[in-house]
Parts: sequence; structure tokens; C-alpha cells
Amino acid sequence: MPGRNALFVPGPTNTPDRILRAMHRAMEDHRSSSFPALTRPILADLRRVFKTQDGQCFVFPATGTGMWETALVNTLSPGDRVLASRCGQFGHLFIDCAQRLGLRVDVQDEDWGSGANADRIEEALRADTAHEIKGVLVVHNETATGVTSDIAAVRRAIDAAGHPALLYVDTVSGLVSLPFEMDAWGVDAAITGSQKGFMLPAGLGLLGMSRKALDRRATARCARVFFDLGDMIAANASGYFPYTPSVPLLYGLRESLDIIFEEGLDAIHARHHRLAEGCRAAVRGWGLSLCAKEPRWASDTVSAVMVPPGIDGAAVIDVAYRRYGLALGAGLGKMAGQLFRIGHLGDLNELMLLGALAGVELAMRDVGIAVALGSGVAAAQEAFRATAAPLPPRGAPASPDAPPPPTRAAHERVAVAR
Ligand SMILES: *Cc1c(COP(=O)(O)O)cnc(C)c1O
Repeated sequence: MPGRNALFVPGPTNTPDRILRAMHRAMEDHRSSSFPALTRPILADLRRVFKTQDGQCFVFPATGTGMWETALVNTLSPGDRVLASRCGQFGHLFIDCAQRLGLRVDVQDEDWGSGANADRIEEALRADTAHEIKGVLVVHNETATGVTSDIAAVRRAIDAAGHPALLYVDTVSGLVSLPFEMDAWGVDAAITGSQKGFMLPAGLGLLGMSRKALDRRATARCARVFFDLGDMIAANASGYFPYTPSVPLLYGLRESLDIIFEEGLDAIHARHHRLAEGCRAAVRGWGLSLCAKEPRWASDTVSAVMVPPGIDGAAVIDVAYRRYGLALGAGLGKMAGQLFRIGHLGDLNELMLLGALAGVELAMRDVGIAVALGSGVAAAQEAFRATAAPLPPRGAPASPDAPPPPTRAAHERVAVAR
């Protein structure tokens, strides 16, 4: 099919051409004397994205799943108890990871469509007077249901219970796109991957660890080799890695961080909120509902749309892809068939999203859902007009992918890279 593919799964997300160009280069020696000039600023800049002064950030040749394992094995011992909130398939898999590592998991099941329940977490921690529970596991943004949990509320619950458990947060589909405050929320392990808000291909696991979490390495008895933070800390200290890193992905991450800081994290969050509001207006325009049970849970990076009874959500996805080249996310786990998901995160603007919403309408009609063509698109257009930014000055670049005008900082970067 000619034209760009319409990628609206909630990860991997679109990779800007600037990042593609940055990654397209000859391999080089990752033990060379110039390599630390690439890695050191990346590791420092990641702390600005995770919003941590005290913590340390890590980059692994892995994915988000690998960072679940890294966070757990470096801080815990087999048989340790942890408390986990399960609100969707990713929370379920995080728990499965902990169980397979030999941890005892107290699971708090919530309705899929709701977020982590801070009151229940506080209750469980208060009941644990012996402080047997070593960690609390939550998913910031449950990609399977389109639900964002209130991590600050979970931290308040842990503090209110006066409990020393570490707070482990999966923010794989949250970080960059949604507000995230590692230090202010007291997050001890912040887990993400490269293929969502960072707009890169999959292949990098990114992890932020608090001092308190790093101190637990001394007593943590879980076996660890590839994911041992001790080896990583020792090598990173001089700007290297304990094994071969993915050089193109590191150049891509450098470009991604530059793009993120040029737009600004606050502006990125505002853009994601605006796009999500447009998507939610479209869902209302179709007369359908979100999996998120209350507006406060609705995610700004992914919308899970419930299909009417008698319709298979998977059929919408199948037709959207085969007939219109539009990739949508499927219902996962116990939501299989009941919904389809529209990812609206990363390198995205209004017209791209309107195109996807138009494609969703076509596919829904094709499989027998009685929506009026244009009903969702028009509702999203109205939402976008209602919150439009002031008209930019003439001469401003129209394409979000246009290279920025050269700045002093950009020249300095080139000098460093050489
Ligand atoms: C995508 C995703 C993951 C899995 O990450 P991989 O990079 O595929 O290992 C984990 N948690 C959430 C919330 C996700 O969205």
C-alpha cells in the first residue's frame, strides 16, 4: 500500500525521520576513547526525563520486560513478599515475572478499567506490622485497558502506613508522554522501554533506580548475570557498558532526547492530553464507551474502545489492517475480542490522528458496527478547534520532523559527537 503505514498500536510508535537518520550509521568500537562522550550525556539526560536528582538511570540492550526483571532481581531475594495491583494484562505479566523469579506476590485484583486502589494498598501495608512486604508493584499506565493510575496516591498510601516497602512502577507506556515524577512520587524503580514515548525501535530497556533501591543490592539474593546492576554501575562510571551495547539505538536515543528537550516535557504532556481528548470525543461521537470506567482513569496515551455486544473487536483490527493499512491494538488477556485499542502517543499530531479515526470508522462499518461515518472524526475536529493553540508566526516549520534551527547547543553537540 503506498504512503506511510498508519501505526496506531500503543507501541512501537512512529520513529521520527530525525531518529531514523541518526541511527543510520556505520558501526563503531564501543570500547573506543570517544565512546563515553556519547554515553555519559545520555545517562545524565535520562535523569531529567525520569525527574530524578538522587537516583541513577540505566540503559540495557533489552525491553521493558527485562527492566521488570532487573528492578526485582537487584533488590529482592527468593521467597520475599511483594504486593501487586493487577488492573490489566501488563500488571498480570509483571506479577508473573515476579512469581517466576521466586517471589511471593500478594495480588490485589481490581476491575479491568480501574486503576491501582491506593486505599487497599494502604490497608494491606498497615496490616503487615512485621514489614514482611518488601515492595509494592504498580503499572503507571495500563496499556491493555487504557487506564492511568495515580502513582502519587500510591506513594501517599505507603507513607501513611509508615511502611518501608520499595515502590516499583512500570511506566513503559507512560514516561515521556505522561507526567512522571520519580523523586517527587518516591518511586524506587521506574521501568520503561524505548519503543513508546521515546519514539525509538524496541531494543533498549530504560530503568531509573533510587538510592534506597540501589542499596538493597547488598542483601538481594536473586540470581543475576546479564541484569546485574553492579556490573552496569562499574562500567557506566567510566562511560562504558559491561557488554556490547546497541550502538545505533544509543545514537537514536541521543536524538530522541534532543527532540524531547526541544519540544519540552510539559508541552509533550499537553499535546498528548489534547490528542487524547480528541480521541475520547470521537469515541463519544460513535456512541461507544472506553474500557476506562471513569474519566479520571482515562489514559492520554492509549484509548481502549469497547465494541458492541455480538461484535468481535479482533475483526475491526483485522479489517483495519488488511483493507486500510491501519494498525490498531487488540484486546489482551480477558479483554480479548471485547475491545480494540488506539495508541495516541509519541511522534503524533492532529491530522495523523484524524486519519486514524477515519480509518477506524471505515473498519467498524465494514464489520457491522452501526456508526455514522464522520461522527467521530467531526467530534474530534470540534475538540481540536476548541483547544487550538494561537496561530504560529509565518516561517515557523510546519513539520514536526523539520530539523530545528541551528543553536549553540546543537553545534556543541556535534563537536562532542566527533
Ligand atoms: C509495552 C509494555 C510492556 C512490555 O514491554 P516490552 O518492551 O514489550 O518488554 C510492559 N508494560 C507496559 C505497561 C507496556 O505498555
